[in-house]
Amino acid sequence: MTDLERAAALETIAGEVRACTRCRLHETRTQAVPGEGNPDTEVVFVGEGPGMNEDRQGRPFVGRAGDLLTRHLGLIGWDRRDVFITNVVKCRPPENRDPEPDEVAACYPYLQRQLEALDPALIVTLGRHSMARFLPDARISRDHGTLRSVDPATGARRALVYPMFHPAAALRSPDVARQSEEDIRAVPAMLLEARGYREPSESMVAASASVVPDLAGGSAAETPSATGATAATGATVATALREELVAATVAVHPAGEPEPDPADQLTLF
Ligand code: SF4
Repeated sequence: MTDLERAAALETIAGEVRACTRCRLHETRTQAVPGEGNPDTEVVFVGEGPGMNEDRQGRPFVGRAGDLLTRHLGLIGWDRRDVFITNVVKCRPPENRDPEPDEVAACYPYLQRQLEALDPALIVTLGRHSMARFLPDARISRDHGTLRSVDPATGARRALVYPMFHPAAALRSPDVARQSEEDIRAVPAMLLEARGYREPSESMVAASASVVPDLAGGSAAETPSATGATAATGATVATALREELVAATVAVHPAGEPEPDPADQLTLF
């Protein structure tokens, strides 16, 4: 699928979501929230559902939790326009209640189709409802910050999933906030793992090429290291080479591709 075809597919899905009446959540929504981001990204963040601010604006993660997600991405040198951000359910549950199983089931095909179009290497789930779509037997308190393979039936053909707490939980609990910061700092390392999972031999060369100039240029000290967080979470980044590479920012875009014009990066669906 070309970039244009991918963007068109996402736009088609977004249009269907905005007009959707498949479940009762359409009755109380202000706007549906299909998701937004870079159609050419390797990383997709999946939350649970829109809140009050998202419902008003029709965009994902734009309230306080969204501000925290944006700050977290900044810790690893990423911008939210570099990734794709969406939710398991695309319409706000009243009073921010948990989505009901039939609502999740009704909405899930949209997420599947988004993942088919995006074909990400890494899926970062935010919160237990999102995690449960990819890892039904996982527990967020035990399994956050770990890396697993994704069932292709989810729509992601060959991806790894990395569960994190929902940013709203981090806003409520200092302990969750600390763990969330550790987890986000490990995300660049998880992307390296995911690239290796997709294309074992070529990916590490590509990853090396993308970060070594940063090391040589002395920018490593300015970028957060994920090494400590990785060790603390028991994730599977094992080699010294990888730990060294993780000290630099890992580009979200494949090595060798020109950086997109910032004006072109944010595609709202
Ligand atoms: S939550 Fe999903 S399935 Fe339900 S009305 Fe909104 S878009 Fe449709």
